[in-house]
Amino acid sequence: MPIRPMKLSKRILGLTDGGSDGWDIFYKARAMRAAGRNVVELTIGEHDRRTEPEILNEMHRSALAGHTGYSALPGTDALRDAIAARIAERTGVPTARDNVVVTPGGQAALFAAHIAACDPGDTALFIDPYYATYPGTIRGAGAVARAVEARAECGFLPSEADLAMAADGAVSLLINSPNNPTGVVYDRDTLEGISRVCRDHDLWLISDEVYDTQVWNGAHLSPRTLPAMAKRTLVVGSLSKGHAMTGSRLGWLAGPEEAIGHLINLSTHTTYGVPGFVQDAGLFALNQGEALEAQIAEPFRRRHATVSDYFVRRGLPIAPSGATMYLMVDIRASGLTGEAFAHRLLDAEGIAVMPGESFGRAAAGHLRVALTVEDQLLMAAVAKLADLADKLVAEAA
Ligand code: PMP
Repeated sequence: MPIRPMKLSKRILGLTDGGSDGWDIFYKARAMRAAGRNVVELTIGEHDRRTEPEILNEMHRSALAGHTGYSALPGTDALRDAIAARIAERTGVPTARDNVVVTPGGQAALFAAHIAACDPGDTALFIDPYYATYPGTIRGAGAVARAVEARAECGFLPSEADLAMAADGAVSLLINSPNNPTGVVYDRDTLEGISRVCRDHDLWLISDEVYDTQVWNGAHLSPRTLPAMAKRTLVVGSLSKGHAMTGSRLGWLAGPEEAIGHLINLSTHTTYGVPGFVQDAGLFALNQGEALEAQIAEPFRRRHATVSDYFVRRGLPIAPSGATMYLMVDIRASGLTGEAFAHRLLDAEGIAVMPGESFGRAAAGHLRVALTVEDQLLMAAVAKLADLADKLVAEAA
């Protein structure tokens, strides 16, 4: 008798909507590397520096001191206090321990926020271009993911009218500023428009602010500070980007006390918390304040400025980016899709960048360049990217 595989749930089979998960180039680059080829990876948002030794020493000290058992489920009091204080100081919104739950990274926080906001079958809005996991995260939480495009022609900012139109029947809106993949920082007007839509349509706002330490021009404004928004906003934070702790899996959700209480209950039934020694290391990192954040951000600030200038000199349009470890380059004049261009660049030059299509329709014909290798190597790689664009533009003419 043939062995029939067990049936899997529609929810898990439908996570990536049956299509590609957008990471083909990333996996191809990794496979080329494993086969011995020299590949410059400008794909994922992974720092080229590792977690600071002082943070790891604290992790080691904490583990040796016995913080290796089940840990406080909502997060340790000290860590929740430190996160709450950081938010209160930077936003002015009163925030206490009971407004914070610690999660295994921002990704787990995104998932938990949608579980809290959406019932199965509810519609959850998100902005396209989007961080690659967003639609799958929403679907994983049982909701229906509905994209609202933020067009390149509008500087990748979502319009209030488009949001209002999509909001009928929706229960939540997920935004991300400073934005991955575009590097755009939402201005006050945009955020006020977003908050009006949320209030008028009674939506939860899930505000992913994991890049709040990587702002180069302008200022990060947390929409939780806007009038009447604190009661309907869940803020996603993380130590991954700001403190070069991607592998530690340490993030949080901040929001209204009642919602956080239920989210702690969700932790009990899903992740069962974050290792105590990781939380202690995170507390140590947060206690270093803005000085450490600025130090971790510095290489990206420098590279962002240099590479932006370079692309402008080479006549390659870039998104109006004032933030993050990424730059979004418009290669539509080449006549190729972002995907086709990225494969050409990887095959011909051994340089891996993410096609805009990995982040939705609105970023089609673009490439996201992660500024995550040392400066010289980065400059050589972006020069080759610009050379290929020139060549293709000339061929297309
Ligand atoms: N949100 C955005 C916009 C991201 O880019 C990432 C990671 N690339 C995350 C959330 C998740 O980060 P982590 O789980 O490492 O905190």
